[in-house]
Amino acid sequence: MILFKKIKDLSKWIDAQRKKDITVGFVPTMGALHAGHISLIDASNKKNDITVSSIFVNPAQFNDPSDFKKYPVTIEQDIYLLEEAGCNVLLLPYVNEIYPEGSSLKMQYDLGFPETILEGRYRQDHFQGVCMVVHRLLEIVKPDRLYLGQKDYQQCMVIKNLMEIIDAKNKIEIVICPTLREPDGLAMSSRNLRLNETERKKSTTIYHCLDMIREQTGKKTPAELKMKAHSMLVEAGFIVDYVEIADADNLISIKEWKDNQKNIALIAATINEVRLIDNMLLN
Ligand code: AMP
Repeated sequence: MILFKKIKDLSKWIDAQRKKDITVGFVPTMGALHAGHISLIDASNKKNDITVSSIFVNPAQFNDPSDFKKYPVTIEQDIYLLEEAGCNVLLLPYVNEIYPEGSSLKMQYDLGFPETILEGRYRQDHFQGVCMVVHRLLEIVKPDRLYLGQKDYQQCMVIKNLMEIIDAKNKIEIVICPTLREPDGLAMSSRNLRLNETERKKSTTIYHCLDMIREQTGKKTPAELKMKAHSMLVEAGFIVDYVEIADADNLISIKEWKDNQKNIALIAATINEVRLIDNMLLN
């Protein structure tokens, strides 16, 4: 694996590869890698000649500075895992390489409805920060395919909107990979490293809520299921941002079940300062 810290070096290398008519898959991450991230690398390796990954904890997407400071960093292990997985290139840039004019947020993308709800509502300007870094990274890597995890379902939707805004929809294919879970159901997440043993055990409640909603779909109303999941989370010690059941195509909250509608349940909840998100398609 070749490691680049300087964007101009990577750009030069990518441009040289491009002349050989190869395809490039790109997996952007914030590090503290786990098997979920590696599944994206595997998916990219299967379809592309070259897989490029990046590790960059993006200050512009953290609305809470203490969350940014506490974000886990395990760079040596990350490099090992990427190498093992057969990733070809890692970009590990400094903040001033990504943001030469500073990382303060510029409200520049009209992301529409998905920015106003759920994560967008609870994490002010988060998606502007995500789009800033993804836009910049795409300009550098110029991939044929961009690999994202369903774990961040709303983010996938926002990035699809970004593709239209930056006129990349027909140039870059977005590939959404399924959420990898621990054996007890907890979605793999870098933030799980911050959970102590008790919190870790309680965190499976999020999965149990989603699974309960999926199992009860059509049998009880969405409102009843949201209320039940909310109580289960509070009982386990969570502070709940949202439990939502929505149309999976547009994330509009649903009041009743309709035939032929693809639905999704989404949860965000915090246990002792560690905020976790997860989702599950219901049909
Ligand atoms: P992050 O490092 O959290 O920014 O995640 C980098 C990419 O990995 C994003 O596209 C995430 O959606 C994806 N990802 C994170 N967790 C998982 C998981 N458990 N399974 C599959 N993909 C994931």
